[in-house]
Amino acid sequence: MKKDYGLSIWGDDNYTIEGETIHLNYGMRPSLMEITRQIREQGYKGPLLLRFPHLIRKQIDTLFSAFERARREFKYQGKFQAVFPLKVNQYPNFVESLIEVSRRRHYGLEAGSKAELIIAMAKTPPGAPITVNGFKDKEMIALAFIAAKSGHNITVTIEGINELKTILEVHRECNADSPDPVAPKIGMRIRLHSSGIGIWAKSGGYSSKFGLTSTELLEAYEMLREAKLIDNLAMIHFHIGSQMSEIGPLKKALREAGNIYAELKRRGAENLRAINIGGGLAVEYSQHQPNANRNYSIREFANDVVFAMQEIARQKGVEEPDIFTESGRFIAAPHAVLIAPVLELFSQEYHERSLRLKPEGQNPPLVQELYDLYRALKRTNAREYLHDALDHMESLLTLFDLGYIDLEDRSNAEILVNLIVKKAIRLLDREDTDELKRLQSRIQEKYLVNFSIFQSLPDFWGLGQHFPIMPIHRLDQRPSRPASLWDITCDSDGEIPFDPEQPLLLHDIDVEEEEYFLGIFLTGAYQEVLGMRHNLFTHPTEAVIEFDEEGEWEVRHIIEAQNLMDVLEDLDYDIGQMDKSLKTLLEDSELIDETEKRDLLGKLYLYLSENSYLKTIQSRIGAE
Ligand SMILES: *Cc1c(COP(=O)(O)O)cnc(C)c1O
Repeated sequence: MKKDYGLSIWGDDNYTIEGETIHLNYGMRPSLMEITRQIREQGYKGPLLLRFPHLIRKQIDTLFSAFERARREFKYQGKFQAVFPLKVNQYPNFVESLIEVSRRRHYGLEAGSKAELIIAMAKTPPGAPITVNGFKDKEMIALAFIAAKSGHNITVTIEGINELKTILEVHRECNADSPDPVAPKIGMRIRLHSSGIGIWAKSGGYSSKFGLTSTELLEAYEMLREAKLIDNLAMIHFHIGSQMSEIGPLKKALREAGNIYAELKRRGAENLRAINIGGGLAVEYSQHQPNANRNYSIREFANDVVFAMQEIARQKGVEEPDIFTESGRFIAAPHAVLIAPVLELFSQEYHERSLRLKPEGQNPPLVQELYDLYRALKRTNAREYLHDALDHMESLLTLFDLGYIDLEDRSNAEILVNLIVKKAIRLLDREDTDELKRLQSRIQEKYLVNFSIFQSLPDFWGLGQHFPIMPIHRLDQRPSRPASLWDITCDSDGEIPFDPEQPLLLHDIDVEEEEYFLGIFLTGAYQEVLGMRHNLFTHPTEAVIEFDEEGEWEVRHIIEAQNLMDVLEDLDYDIGQMDKSLKTLLEDSELIDETEKRDLLGKLYLYLSENSYLKTIQSRIGAE
């Protein structure tokens, strides 16, 4: 693996490695290490979720400029508009940053539930679009009417005929006595014949959960006309699934949707003006092979959409529709990085200093020879000596089983073979053979990392989705240890195993002496709200890093991970009662005297005010 941990593949120029550390490629280019230090010095320990609003702005700008450019190039008449689908990230620090950085864009929000609709109604800037998708009841539709009557530019997408019936009902009730009825715009989600590909491609196709068939489209059209709401029909909508790896399926869907648009338009839907192509724009998560996740550029994507729409509009003689997108993953993923401290390495014992060699002449000859091989190992003899060492190990294990050597000899042999394998791999690192890959697994080191995979990388746990991981410092030193990562849950699924095909190599560190931090990148989409509180590890402490005009940075809006009692209160424990019972138990204890009771009570309350992540070794040293 390259020393840049694949940064050139997944990094999108957002970061640079300068000397020892990885830096934001923006403003005064702070290193992630400086930012982490500054926050930790304020007393926040455990994992940290850093948010970078400038990266949200960059994604929004990239999306809009790709479409603006395509529109200019094709002289396209329709407008380009976009909304952010809230289901991808509803956290206030994210949503507020998003609104802030997109102010001049008329960028809006998409809601898929009542709670999300309330966020959209409260946060969408006046005039910017709101779209409402997903299953809706009467109350949710009534909320959309309230939004429309409050002046919002809101479109409700109907997913089925019954939903339309409810819309008509709410319309009658809401606008009964009104001379000038106000209702939301109406969109129709179509059930695509074509479907996407990849692990998230369930949203298209005949069996998809959402959308109207062609028969239902015609029926809906008639219903709207009878209710005199046909002028509100404004949008055709589809969504072919997330993380599209190829553009082919999208092109098919575009033709399908474009023709439906044109047909309805020709039937008399005069105000039908937009095609909403949903989300699905992919993010490159790969650390190892370029284009593993996305084989098209944003420019190509925009050109294909604009071209397809123009062609259909020309063929059918209708005006070119406005193009709407609801990309979520693409907008949100890059903005967040999880910084997780390493707490422990589990095979520290394989160190030269742990050897218990006996005086010269008293070690078994094979152990002595291992020692000599280790001393004499160099690039030219590495392969041969490596094979010798592995052979000797087999023989030594047999000798141990037969009772010829003692436990100390066996321990020495294990350490020496481990050291030889490590050194040989380092010496032979230009060679890429299966044997070396296998040996890497053999000497893998288990790094205990202060985070929860269930909370912070649920898509890794559930779907095997890879996220880029790298240390945020020591980058001037060659990483030598094949690593598997353990999180701090007591679930054996809380592990990112070593993969010889896509090896993660980390540094050999002594956590008693120094801190070591890993960055887990591109975690800004879906991971936060999908994250679960397995073992009661909660959403980590988060902070927003903002830059001013001069490029100076500042840490803002720190929200600490919930403390223990708040976590329990969220589960609906009666924490007043729990608090009393903990206190009474200690006060009534006959095992200790009054002074110690007071002391322990103080400690207990201190611990209750903290979150459930572990303290690093350093803070343990500092605290005692
Ligand atoms: C989930 C969803 C999106 C966002 O998809 P991404 O892959 O995150 O871009 C857009 N539209 C609809 C209707 C969705 O359900």
